[in-house]
Amino acid sequence: MPKRILVTGGAGFLGSHLCERLLDQGHEVIALDNLFTSQRSNIEHLLGQTRFEFVRHDVTEPFSFEVDEIYNLACPAAPGHYQYNPIRTMKTSFMGTMHALGLAKRVRAKILQASTSEVYGDPEVHPQPESYRGLVNPIGPRACYDEGKRAAETLMFDYHRTHKVKIKVARIFNTYGPRMHPFDGRVVSNFIRQALAGETITMYGDGLQTRSFCYRDDLVEAMIRMMETDDSVTGPINIGNPDEFTILDLAKKVVSIAGSSSKVETGRPLPPDDPKQRCPDISLARKVLGWEPKIKLDAGLKKTIDWFRTVDFTGVRAPTPNY
Ligand code: NAD
Ligand code: UDP
Repeated sequence: MPKRILVTGGAGFLGSHLCERLLDQGHEVIALDNLFTSQRSNIEHLLGQTRFEFVRHDVTEPFSFEVDEIYNLACPAAPGHYQYNPIRTMKTSFMGTMHALGLAKRVRAKILQASTSEVYGDPEVHPQPESYRGLVNPIGPRACYDEGKRAAETLMFDYHRTHKVKIKVARIFNTYGPRMHPFDGRVVSNFIRQALAGETITMYGDGLQTRSFCYRDDLVEAMIRMMETDDSVTGPINIGNPDEFTILDLAKKVVSIAGSSSKVETGRPLPPDDPKQRCPDISLARKVLGWEPKIKLDAGLKKTIDWFRTVDFTGVRAPTPNY
């Protein structure tokens, strides 16, 4: 049955793909976004579709739509973006989620929150299961995002307990793919831009810190499956790719797949509170969603690098000077 679905952050990297997938399934989709970290070009190709609507709006201000489902993605996600105006990041995460929950309560919509592996901070448990409560520095430069997302999870569960709102909390681990912001300062976009330009690859620290990278199609599939679960499924559920790589491994792969002559240079200062190791335990996602990622890092990087080759960087607006 076609549904009316609101996607906050719908013009972003993940949001625009989610909108596409939902439209392909025959739903009516409203993308709400203030375009802080995204480009109108991400959704330009959808604007002609009668079942798609774009609303330019800031989630820190209330909003109202008659919808069946809400995916709450509006929030800067890359460290350079969320640290640019940290107070605003916290406000977006908390107030945006509160406004989305208020709407879910009024119109009895189901709501899925795009939470993050950052709720685990710099974890001491590997891989991270949902039961792990994390090690977050509440006063460091990453806290605006980490604690903002933790507070958003708290709000989700309090609206669920108090008002019976149907909630789904997805904890998303590092995700990459075409349409990620080329100047977001994240590791995949930095390394690909550098490799394609033949520039030195900027490794922070010794490069032995690890991350697990999920391709965006796998991620969006898991979010949709989670929204479709029974009302008793609230999460949190980890969504990510459990294949763990050092950042040095990633650099070598990017250089090789791009056919680049770039040199990898280690030893730049490691950002404060940079997690040393991160890898999702996805047993719950496997069991409850019948899902696991299909796209291996080499294949996903190839698709992403092919997309980066088509981007005219002069036409892309960098939202912050941090890249
Ligand atoms: P993104 O920056 O491309 O998308 C976020 C979108 O939210 C952007 O379009 C931005 O303009 C919009 N936005 C920001 N502040 C807003 C505000 N106040 N009002 C309205 N819109 C606003 O990043 P993304 O990678 O697509 O992330 C989407 C969501 O997934 C975020 O909530 C992020 O925290 C979460 N997430 C992403 C990853 C990842 O690796 N990509 C990992 C964990 C969690
Ligand atoms: N990183 C790096 N060089 C870069 C950008 C990032 O070595 O040019 C490292 C960063 O220090 C971190 C990892 O890559 O250890 C992932 O960083 P990213 O900002 O992509 O995401 P997050 O730290 O939020 O997982």
